[in-house]
Amino acid sequence: MKTLLLHTDEIEKAAGIIRSGGLVAMPTETVYGLAADALNGQAVAKIFQAKRRPMDNPLIVHIAELSQIDDLVREFPEKARKLAEAFWPGPLTIILPRSDKIPPEVSAGLDTVAIRCPSDETARELIRLSAPLAAPSANLSGSPSPTTAQHVIADMDGRIDAIIDGGSCSVGVESTVITLAADPPRLLRPGGITLEQLREVIGEVILDEAVLHPLAEGQQAASPGMKYKHYAPKANVVLLKGDRTAFLQFVNAHNDGKTAVLCYEEERHDLKLPYLVLGKEGDYETQANQLFAVLRQADEKGCQTLYAHCPSVEGVGLAVYNRIIRAAGFEVISLA
Ligand code: AMP
Ligand code: MG
Repeated sequence: MKTLLLHTDEIEKAAGIIRSGGLVAMPTETVYGLAADALNGQAVAKIFQAKRRPMDNPLIVHIAELSQIDDLVREFPEKARKLAEAFWPGPLTIILPRSDKIPPEVSAGLDTVAIRCPSDETARELIRLSAPLAAPSANLSGSPSPTTAQHVIADMDGRIDAIIDGGSCSVGVESTVITLAADPPRLLRPGGITLEQLREVIGEVILDEAVLHPLAEGQQAASPGMKYKHYAPKANVVLLKGDRTAFLQFVNAHNDGKTAVLCYEEERHDLKLPYLVLGKEGDYETQANQLFAVLRQADEKGCQTLYAHCPSVEGVGLAVYNRIIRAAGFEVISLA
């Protein structure tokens, strides 16, 4: 299949592809999404093939206006309304009891559906001109999510109908996912909207254990996506826990031509081996924005091992931690 590369002034063409059951990669403020008509089960099934995504991992449905939600869910509780008012359009996904119109391919057989209203204008226009869109990240399953059209081309060229090039994504990690199908509400995946922000609006929110820890053998994931190794470059990612002096000492002792370091801006001049800069220490927004691009760059450099700081879990740092600990397969070395 030939994959068309479209500009943001060709959204009508992309909408035509969606209406006829095809797949279009679109920019959003989080990461690029691989979109199909969410109410067309056959079109949605093609997403799983193109991404090689396990069929038991459900998809997020993207809407352009709050009114579109009525057809998609059975209930829209007060807490969901408050969250939508506070954070939509934006990087928050809300899980609710699904309506009968949701095809089983979207919800992977669950009784719930994940809904998000993105703020990216290209994505919203595509939805307005076509339909609510089921759209996971537009990468091959398991690899780092795409934050530029070039990342999408690298994974998906020849596998999908079209890519709309909307430049770089502003948030850079996938949306925050909260379920309101549980009481109290539960954070299943951290993202650009923080746990602290959610608690300010609706009070108690539980942090699902799978956000920070690997699932024990046989344990059921509240969010099926949490059980897969994710976001991983080909390089072996290892996290280091310790202060800056210990970190620099450890990595500088590994200048073997095969190793690189994911470092903070402030550290670059003290490194004796190849490095990629994630952002300033404590600037979690920039780190989230850069993370997937630098993981892809590590592979372009051909490095075999990538050492990185173990991030703090406050604010958007929790989203960075959640992605990087999975990229590392939960491998952390504590430095004295
Ligand atoms: P992605 O589409 O790749 O950004 O991933 C969507 C995430 O939301 C995955 O971790 C899914 O498992 C999760 N998700 C989507 N729908 C549901 C649902 N109904 N219940 C629980 N988790 C969901
Ligand atoms: Mg994904």
